[in-house]
Amino acid sequence: MTNSTKSVFSLILSIFITINSQSQITFDKWFEGKTMRFDYFHSGNSLQEHFAADRALNDGAWSGSQTQLIDKLRYGLYFYEISDPKTNTVLYSRGFASIFGEWQTTPEAEQEWGTFHESMRFPWPKQIVNLTLYKRDSRNEFQPIWNYAVNPESITAIPQPLVNGLKTWNYMNNGPSTEKVDIVVLGDGYTQDQMPKFAADVKRLTEELFNVEPFKSRRNEFNVWVVETPCTTPGVNKPHPQEFNRTPLSLSYGAFDSERYLLGFDNRAIRDAASAVPYEFMCIIVNERTYGGGGIYNLYATTSADNKFGDYIFVHEFGHHFAALADEYYTSATSYEAPSIELEPWEANITALKDPKTLKWKHLTDPSTPIPTPWNKEDFDAFSYEIQRERTKIRAEKKPESVMEELFERERTHEREMIKKMEFTGKVGAFEGAGYQPKGLYRPETDCIMFTRNRQAFCKVCQAAIAEVIDQYTK
Ligand SMILES: [Zn+2]
Repeated sequence: MTNSTKSVFSLILSIFITINSQSQITFDKWFEGKTMRFDYFHSGNSLQEHFAADRALNDGAWSGSQTQLIDKLRYGLYFYEISDPKTNTVLYSRGFASIFGEWQTTPEAEQEWGTFHESMRFPWPKQIVNLTLYKRDSRNEFQPIWNYAVNPESITAIPQPLVNGLKTWNYMNNGPSTEKVDIVVLGDGYTQDQMPKFAADVKRLTEELFNVEPFKSRRNEFNVWVVETPCTTPGVNKPHPQEFNRTPLSLSYGAFDSERYLLGFDNRAIRDAASAVPYEFMCIIVNERTYGGGGIYNLYATTSADNKFGDYIFVHEFGHHFAALADEYYTSATSYEAPSIELEPWEANITALKDPKTLKWKHLTDPSTPIPTPWNKEDFDAFSYEIQRERTKIRAEKKPESVMEELFERERTHEREMIKKMEFTGKVGAFEGAGYQPKGLYRPETDCIMFTRNRQAFCKVCQAAIAEVIDQYTK
């Protein structure tokens, strides 16, 4: 290294150190070391939405980064900012998605109103701060839709943490929470006697996640915490086959009238349980065999533990929850609206490919790969749509879960063989068919955990998006 490069290097280093220590000063100046959970009600219908503050709670020690307070990734349908009311300086921000955001696009929202309880979490402010909530407009740009002055001294702000007496334990501990990604794993539908099974399910599914890249090679940047919330009767609520059960976390199949959509609408109960440990991301495992799951960006991911494809569901849903990845599949129906093909989607892993020259993952493609990229779509579609027809029939006839698992196994084997032989498999390109749209939306590779149930990796574009989220919580 020459003297001049040395001095440039040390200058850059000192700037870096200054920026870092300034972030620390910002944190200590504005925030205390605990988490504020700002609870509110989100109401509306297909045409409008409104907000009402509920209360602010101490949600335990602040486990997020104290230096990376601004969300540079800007994923999600919604985005919130905490700012200094005097200077409008943004002190903290995060993108997220919500159950309301999906529900608003269902047919039900055209007929009636809905109210959902939601939370925004940020470090506990030392003085009054402005909270601004943004939502994407028809051009996918964030526009402010709610402003609220958050007063930590208000009578609706409770600085006392919840002592709920729940049993908690640590599955993976790699260091201080403020420097690691903290995941909380909750369980629903497990009785006290089944806690050893819950522990085994946590181990099996967590290991499945850390068996795929980039989680595998970055395992030491994560902590995994577990909270036990036993119930009295095993299993969770299943309204379609009329198997009802009320459990501590309110997990239920049949969200938005979709049998496989597994969500919990009791936000307070879920958040209260999770607050027993430090966390930024949340997985909820349910003690069921029926195929089901759900994943909402920065809310939680759910999985049925005992389904033959539970390991796949766990990793796939975590992709939605952790990095806002879009579904890359398009042959099975959903109850909420598919993304538009007119507009470039904000998700990292699908594109409307309006201009192949500016493809958003172009840096990961090989110049010799044609864009759009040809693949055997007709053969794939013919097979896949037939499987979907059989799937609907099996559910309608209320066949046992083993019959459905057998169908999915047949699908997996056939699709895996089909994709393996395709010319551009393993290359990053732009393959038509993604995000519930058979035409007009494109995915990065022939296969990915966000596309099929084949035992495979996240595609390279999904991996890069996940890596950026890990960076935002650790570096
Ligand atoms: Zn992907």
